[in-house]
Amino acid sequence: MYGRDDVYTVRMFSSEEKTRAVAALLSWFDAHKRPLPWRSSYTPYEVWISEVMLQQTQMERGVQYFLRWMKRFPTLASVAEAPEEEILHYWEGLGYYRRARFLHQAAKTVMERFGRALPCAKEELASLPGLGEYTVAAILGIAYERDVVTVDANVERIFSRLFNIAEPVRKAPTATWIRRTAQELLPPGQARAYNQALMELGALVCGKAPRCPECPLLPWCEARKKGVEKSRPVLPERPKVIPVVSAHSILLWKRQILLLQRPLNGLWGGMWEFPGAMVAEKASPRETAVRSMAELGLRVEILAPLGQVRHSYTNHRLTAHFFRVEFASDFSEEQASALARRVPCRFLNWNEVGTLAMPAHHRRMADRYFSGKHRASAEQLSL
Ligand code: SF4
Repeated sequence: MYGRDDVYTVRMFSSEEKTRAVAALLSWFDAHKRPLPWRSSYTPYEVWISEVMLQQTQMERGVQYFLRWMKRFPTLASVAEAPEEEILHYWEGLGYYRRARFLHQAAKTVMERFGRALPCAKEELASLPGLGEYTVAAILGIAYERDVVTVDANVERIFSRLFNIAEPVRKAPTATWIRRTAQELLPPGQARAYNQALMELGALVCGKAPRCPECPLLPWCEARKKGVEKSRPVLPERPKVIPVVSAHSILLWKRQILLLQRPLNGLWGGMWEFPGAMVAEKASPRETAVRSMAELGLRVEILAPLGQVRHSYTNHRLTAHFFRVEFASDFSEEQASALARRVPCRFLNWNEVGTLAMPAHHRRMADRYFSGKHRASAEQLSL
C-alpha cells in the first residue's frame, strides 16, 4: 500500500507541471468534445438526467434515451407530475429501475421543497432520494460550476495510469487519494470543463485500450513511461457469475394477454411481466411454467414453446423460457375478476402491453412474437 512518502508526494506534479498538464487537457477538450445534447445548455435538470442515465449505459444508447426522455419530460415538473408507470416505461431497457423510481421521487421532493429547480447546496442535493456522492458532485461541478470534482470510472482509470497506481482504485486509501489529487488539479472556476474533459479523455482516448500518441497528458504519464498502462487500473476481482433459469406463460384469453405486476420493492419492482417463476434445480422449465400458473389458481396446458431469451443483471445470467399456454377448462369473467382481486394482474390487448414497463427479457419476447416483423407469429397465435 502507498505511504505519503512515495506515491502521494513523490509522484505528485510540481505546480508548473500541474498548470501545463491541466492546460493541455482543457485545450484538448475544447478541440475534441462531442456535441452531446446536454452540453448545449448544461441545465441542472439535464445534467442530472444525463448522469443518472449514463451510469452503466453506453454513450450512444444513453443519448437516444436522453432525447426520448426530454421530448416527453422537458422539465423537472413534468417528471414530478407523471405517473410512476410512465417513468418506468421511458426507462425500460436501461435497467437498474430503482434509479428511475428514485429520480421520480426526487423530482416530486424538489417540487415540494425547493420550488421548480434543483437546489445548488450540497446538503440539499444530498437529501434527495437516490442522489449519491457522484451525482451530487456532477450537478454541482458540471451544472452549477462549483469547484467540485466528479470522479467516475474514467477519472479513476486516467489517474491510475497518470500516477502509475498499482493498487485497486476503488479501495481506500487509493480512492481517497485519487479524489483528493483530482480536486487539487481542478483549476478554480473551471470545474465544468475540467470534469467533462477528464470524462471525455477517458471515453475517447484513455479507454481500455489507451491511444497514448493522441493523449494530451502523454508527457506526464508514469504508467506509459514504464510501459504498464494496459495493466492499470487495478480492479477488484469480478464477482462469480450465477446462472439462473426462469419459465413464463403467455396466456391469451379473449384476444388479450395476461400480465402480472411484480412487487413494488425488489428486482424490476412494479414492472409488468408474463406470469412465471424461477426454475428450481431439478425441475424443468415446462413444468415450472404450468406450476406457477396453478399457484395463481389457473389450470393451463402448454400449446408450444416460444423460445428463450437471455438476459444479464448484476452478476446473474438469466435464461428465460417462454411458453404459449391456454386454459385447460372454461374461464369466466367472474374468475378473471377474482384473479385480479387476489394478485395485481391485467388482461390487456397488444397496444396496452406496449405502454407498460416490462423487464427487458419480457419486452424482447413480447416484441419477438407480437409486433413488427414477427406480426405473422402474432397472427398464428390468434391475437
Ligand atoms: S498517455 Fe496513455 S495511458 Fe497515459 S493518460 Fe494518456 S492515454 Fe492514458
